[in-house]
Amino acid sequence: MKILAIGAHPDDIEIFMFGILALYKKQKHELYLGVATDGSLGGKGPKKQLIAKRKKETKNGLIELGIPHCFNFPDGHLGDDFSHKKIIQKYIFKINPDLIITHHINDYHSDHCNLSEIISKVSGHYFPIIYCETMMGLNFSPTYYVDISKVFEMKKKAILCHESQEPKRFINLVQMMNGYRAAQCNSPIGTFAECYYFKKSFPFTDISNLLPEPPKIKPFNIQNQVGFL
Ligand SMILES: [Zn+2]
Repeated sequence: MKILAIGAHPDDIEIFMFGILALYKKQKHELYLGVATDGSLGGKGPKKQLIAKRKKETKNGLIELGIPHCFNFPDGHLGDDFSHKKIIQKYIFKINPDLIITHHINDYHSDHCNLSEIISKVSGHYFPIIYCETMMGLNFSPTYYVDISKVFEMKKKAILCHESQEPKRFINLVQMMNGYRAAQCNSPIGTFAECYYFKKSFPFTDISNLLPEPPKIKPFNIQNQVGFL
């Protein structure tokens, strides 16, 4: 399959979608990675240097998955210009992916929301989309859970490549978010899950067979159970 992931900022794929992509990579699927903005508002110092630094960090962060395509839209202004929509549309149709992964429209950052809206609109009935979790899961109701325990160390390593972003706080974040989502599946402490939202829309009704395995659900009321039940 061709899997296309597009994040709004240089570290978003790593924080919100890395686990599922690493699993697809292990299964030898073809990955395409897009980074929409230049990240120029995420740090101090001269803008040009920050953009170059963040681009390098993204390249390092995603090295195990592929080479990202950077759209270089201005940070904080994604979608302000109509040309952004046209450029994203052209990119998606050129790849012709089997599945798209991007942000959810309810996310906290306007660039995340705008990107989500643009991708939803241009994909229409041509490509199925799964939306990654919002920051801290607010206003987000998952439909699919993916067990990322086996690639969680790889995900942490990728996040730590974003040195300009004080990345340790994001390690804490994913430990909380992905640990909590695994626990929702009654999966033990020390396991991790990413979760995604899929909205049925003609002609895409059930895409579960496109996704990696969810965490194993432990049967209830069994002695020596390691989950919560
Ligand atoms: Zn972001």
